[in-house]
Amino acid sequence: MYRVAKVVFPFPIEEEYDYLIPEELSSKVELGKRVMVSLKNREEEGIVVEIQKIDFLNPQIHYKEISQVFDEFPVVNQEQIELSYWVSKEYLCEVGEALDKMYPKPFKITKKDLLELNKEEAINLHEENLVSLSTEQKSIFESIKESMFSSIPSIHLIQGITGSGKTEIYLYLIVEAIKANKSVLFIVPEISITVQMIERIRKIVGNIAVLHSSLTGKQRYLEYLKILLGKVRVVLGTRSAIFAPLRDLGLIIIDEEHDSSLRDNSHPRYDARIIAKKRSEIYKIPLILGSATPQIETRYFTEKYHNQVYDRFKYNIYFLRKRVLGSLPEIHLIERENLEQPISNELLKEIEKNYKNKKQSLILLNRRGYHPYLYCKKCKKNIECPNCSISLSLHKNTNERVLKCHYCNYQTAVIYSCPDCGSRLTQLGTGIQKVEEFLLNIFPEMKIVRLDTDVVNKESILQEVIQSFIQGDIDILTGTQMISKGIDAPNLNLVGVLQADAGFYLPDFRSAERAFSLLVQVAGRSGRRENTGKAFFEVFDQDHPYIKWAVNQDYESFFKEELKKRFEFRYPPFSRLIRLLIRSPLQKKAEKYINELANELTQKKQKIGIYELLGPTQAPILKLHNKFRYHILIKTQFFRETIENIKDSIKRFKKRLHEDSYLEIEIDPIDIL
Ligand SMILES: [Zn+2]
Ligand SMILES: [Zn+2]
Repeated sequence: MYRVAKVVFPFPIEEEYDYLIPEELSSKVELGKRVMVSLKNREEEGIVVEIQKIDFLNPQIHYKEISQVFDEFPVVNQEQIELSYWVSKEYLCEVGEALDKMYPKPFKITKKDLLELNKEEAINLHEENLVSLSTEQKSIFESIKESMFSSIPSIHLIQGITGSGKTEIYLYLIVEAIKANKSVLFIVPEISITVQMIERIRKIVGNIAVLHSSLTGKQRYLEYLKILLGKVRVVLGTRSAIFAPLRDLGLIIIDEEHDSSLRDNSHPRYDARIIAKKRSEIYKIPLILGSATPQIETRYFTEKYHNQVYDRFKYNIYFLRKRVLGSLPEIHLIERENLEQPISNELLKEIEKNYKNKKQSLILLNRRGYHPYLYCKKCKKNIECPNCSISLSLHKNTNERVLKCHYCNYQTAVIYSCPDCGSRLTQLGTGIQKVEEFLLNIFPEMKIVRLDTDVVNKESILQEVIQSFIQGDIDILTGTQMISKGIDAPNLNLVGVLQADAGFYLPDFRSAERAFSLLVQVAGRSGRRENTGKAFFEVFDQDHPYIKWAVNQDYESFFKEELKKRFEFRYPPFSRLIRLLIRSPLQKKAEKYINELANELTQKKQKIGIYELLGPTQAPILKLHNKFRYHILIKTQFFRETIENIKDSIKRFKKRLHEDSYLEIEIDPIDIL
């Protein structure tokens, strides 16, 4: 008898390969472990996804042997392997590529580590640390609790304004799940939110596992092992934690479900919400989505099918309309005319007043750098990145001025005259660095700190600054959208958003949704305790309807209008989108490839007619990282059938692509820039 292992690889290679398990490795090879094998005359690392016993070897096949086993413990379990087959179908990737997203890099662990792991205290419920629920919260809790014991998978949206006490409901449900001997997966978009949440959960359930990117590699692996070995019942983490191998899953919670960080940006570009939905289906358990500004799709489906079963899931929507503490901030609009000054006098006065009242302020401008543009009046154009069709931004560092591309990180010394005609360049626009400098000049007595990706090169910096802000050590926190979430500072009483309507004008169908939710979320940071907070939006056009709704925190009107637009163009939720984007170093080549792909899909489409093709066309950002970008959008109401229909064409097409060109497949793209 022979033992044969099926091995998959973390790169695009279509076939699955069988390898013989040699006698001397027989006890070591296990499902889910990484092994070294020879593949096309190269040594490669793969994962064992199946082990078979066979009596006779197929004489047609030349079996190779596994040469090495890397792991003491498997890195993934049976359920993850099954899930990876599903992910590969949903996202048109290979099984090994999907598995590669599911586990952290394993580390060598010591005897001491193992002892620590085994010492982990058991579940220890402290229900006395739960705060009591309001009637509103209680009825939501009861309803979801009921569905925990139903045999139908369910999706529950809790749409609650910021500070309305969604977390308390989550905590009660976690306790219920644990009492029923089930485990819980809790996903939040930001590490800073994780940090504040860890203590709250630990106080109630004792030991939990935490998975996020600011842990060291080894810490991460140890947390992961705790889960794999069944030492914990609750996992709290960011996006990739959605794959955590918890046993007896009983409940999945995704807080701030509108957040775009729930989408992975590298192939396969999975969406944690979609994976959560699949796991909820597998285990027949509730998936809870919480937000003050839910994704348009989530809101649409949970409302339309409220209390009904649709496409295998039972849907529910609940509302929390009151803040537990404090009240919603008063929001004011300031229309900007004099753009020379980065902040209006009106807002400056408010900041000063707030400071005198010993309160803190937060000033957000979602733009990095000092000046976003260098403009040549004679050529009538901005200076662009040599690698991208994107304007370079001027950055002022401590002792130098540089030009930076925010997409590819290209950097060069600042220039003052146009490289084409020699005229003097005009420095245009305001970035957050200019805002910070301006504030420091006007308010030398205040402690002012800036947070953006130029300062935060490590997650720990972000956490330190946010922590010291929460403790009240900073008077004004300025920054980009990085400071829009996860800050619950008791003394924060003024939020100012500069160029608040800029996000509504981007050429992307989700831009309004994103801009709206950013405004509501950041305004909601103000006055979370007993005081009434204030928020100010500085805008170019105060009559823009979306701005008015943001001021009134009126998600309902925004949702209705946005839905109307989506319906008109049959965008999601009225369809699903698949974006196929070619990247190539030569423009001609990119064009040729996209046309070929479009032709092939058009022919298929005529035969079947279940989807619509938009394009082919240049992507709005034509060049990025020295690659030209052309795309096709597929719009369909029959997602599964469409995937089935196009997958072979795409596979064939990928093989035809020349080495330097790449086909990016994006299911439910979050932007189409
Ligand atoms: Zn010029
Ligand atoms: Zn660039």
